[in-house]
Amino acid sequence: MTRSANLGFPRIGLHRELKKSLEAYWKGAIDAGALDASGKALRARHWQLQRDAGIEVIPSNDFSFYDHVLDMTATLGAIPPRFESLADPTERYFAMARGTAAAPAMEMTKWFDTNYHYIVPELHRGQQFRLASNKAVDEVLEARALGIETRPVLVGPVTWLSLAKAKDDGLDPLTLLDAVLPVYAELLGTLKAIGTDWVQIDEPILALDLSAAQRAALRHAYEVLQPVAPRIMLTSYFGALGDNTELAAGLRVAGLHIDLVRAPEQLPAVLKALPADKLLSVGVIDGRNIWRADLDRQLALVNKAWDSVGPDRLEVAPSCSLLHSPVDLEAETELDPELRSWLAFATQKLSEVSALTLAMQKGRPAAKAAFEASAAAALSHRQSPRIHRAEVKGRAAASLPLNRASPFAIRRAAQRQRFGLPAFPTTTIGSFPQTQEVRKQRAAFKHGQIDAATYERFLEAETERAVRIQERIGLDVLVHGEFERNDMVEYFGEQLDGFAFTKNGWVQSYGSRCVKPPVIYGDVSRPQAMTVRWSAYAASLTDKPMKGMLTGPVTILQWSFVRVDQPRAETCRQIALAIRDEVLDLEAAGIGIIQIDEPALREGLPLRRSDWQEYLRWAVDCFRITASAVADATQVHTHMCYAEFNDIMPSIAEMDADVISIETSRSAMELLEAFRDFRYPNEIGPGVWDIHAPRVPSQPEMLALLRKAAEGIPGEQLWVNPDCGLKTRNWPEVEASLQNLVETARQLRA
Ligand SMILES: [Zn+2]
Repeated sequence: MTRSANLGFPRIGLHRELKKSLEAYWKGAIDAGALDASGKALRARHWQLQRDAGIEVIPSNDFSFYDHVLDMTATLGAIPPRFESLADPTERYFAMARGTAAAPAMEMTKWFDTNYHYIVPELHRGQQFRLASNKAVDEVLEARALGIETRPVLVGPVTWLSLAKAKDDGLDPLTLLDAVLPVYAELLGTLKAIGTDWVQIDEPILALDLSAAQRAALRHAYEVLQPVAPRIMLTSYFGALGDNTELAAGLRVAGLHIDLVRAPEQLPAVLKALPADKLLSVGVIDGRNIWRADLDRQLALVNKAWDSVGPDRLEVAPSCSLLHSPVDLEAETELDPELRSWLAFATQKLSEVSALTLAMQKGRPAAKAAFEASAAAALSHRQSPRIHRAEVKGRAAASLPLNRASPFAIRRAAQRQRFGLPAFPTTTIGSFPQTQEVRKQRAAFKHGQIDAATYERFLEAETERAVRIQERIGLDVLVHGEFERNDMVEYFGEQLDGFAFTKNGWVQSYGSRCVKPPVIYGDVSRPQAMTVRWSAYAASLTDKPMKGMLTGPVTILQWSFVRVDQPRAETCRQIALAIRDEVLDLEAAGIGIIQIDEPALREGLPLRRSDWQEYLRWAVDCFRITASAVADATQVHTHMCYAEFNDIMPSIAEMDADVISIETSRSAMELLEAFRDFRYPNEIGPGVWDIHAPRVPSQPEMLALLRKAAEGIPGEQLWVNPDCGLKTRNWPEVEASLQNLVETARQLRA
């Protein structure tokens, strides 16, 4: 009989209970016992919730106190040497994630193309592994004690090794496979011994371009593990198996899970390749987004699988773990009812999986109510005038000039004449400290404790203070400080049509940190100017150039829940047009320098290289739409941070911003080599102050970095600025550091 399955549930809790417990524990307000108890309560609640929703295959070990990749690292005993002296496993686990005074944290990076961050395993030559944690076994027993049989989830050995970073030169982590497999075998053997029928092993690298070594490693790993393990459901997600289809279908496992939300077109190829003895788990409910499924459409897909594999070899599941969805739509009591009827969070997605499964088991009439509600929502979604606005679609469909009026050399001359900036001009990236007072006043305004006029007066005073400080320090291009902004995406989303905000739609970003992405539900337009008031006010206070600050369309898209009823490129183009209007309004208000941030441009890259070019084409075009309409003498900046740019340098150059500021100081300017080798044609501000460290960089330090930059990039192209915005720093640090920065630029000029 076809079964309903889940691959993972959000850990954080409906009211972010996990975040609260973790932060209380880190502060010393609760002890390890209390922290454990809160984890146990969340697990029990979530198992029960999944059972109540009709899920037959319920995962365990999907819970984590910080990150599931870190859990696997701890399970394999792969403790970096700098943490070995910590005897207490809980203390050591969190030290690995967060660092201590003596030992910096392990690196963190994005999990595939999601906004979830995992802790990167560190491996040494001759690395020893041992089974160092019973977490997976304990959670099976814990659920069993509650009367719930679970399918434990493990990060697969080849994915784990592929995501790891070698700490010794020339070490390929994959060569450690034979050292890791005995630990996996021991763990899987234990799970089998306690009566576990099935395990879920995640190998999401199957959605990537794989090397011959990775393919061989996958084959070898499951040859070794299959005989000792419970039946293995091997999962892939976030994309099509593509050229890995034969490989995945042929691995020695009992079942294969595929993502049919991201890649419905792969079903026929998978059905063709799947051996007759294997189970197929079809991921037909979107684990990555917040839209309600069109159940009839998804049922047709499940039926296609059923026709081929039959009822007994089929599982119905979300596309991936629900980790990437908010917990429960029921908590969104303030959302507009129509909009709400189009959404499904993790809890609702489980019901969708159950309804589809029930329809397969007993026929569609058995799940009639769910199908009718889904059809009604799909109909209103297709027709609602709140989503579809002809004038927005028409404007986005029209062709737009992507090029500035003149090439960079001519613009540069016009801008030099207009602004008369010195060599090595100094500026900052935009935001200034969001002090406790700023956050307090914003909260007071939001909760109606102070009126709009009082709040505006407060923001004006903060802005003026920031302007005076920048003047006193002697920066060349000033910013207004962004005290009126909560967040670089939310601030714009709140002022654009087509966006909605949830009260409780939290998704884990890393550890205890959660984000609440805006929802782009309809055609996007800008009813009125968004930032002109604050930029113009700040500009009126000073004779120095004031830089207007905007978030770029790709970053707004990337950090939101995006509609799926039209291509992402089209939604991005609509946002680009809204930002273009804002750019022109800023220009008309006399703001001569405008920065359009695109920190998320790199992370939007598709998982497969063959898809890069298409993405980069529309992403770069969208940036150019925002910037192309201004006069030659208006200077466009952009900012990017914390990414490798080497492989997308031509696209960055094509954006044709007059100035780009980039984070470089943590990589000791290595990134600049890419700009040098490429001969980046426009101006560059390499960050000379790592703003993530709570310290004041000295003049000699910054001078050394800039000298290094000037070795590869002509001095007349260089700007002097910090790595990133300064909202997380405090004022004394900011003032002292900026003083050093300005003094360094003066020394360089001399
Ligand atoms: Zn940045």
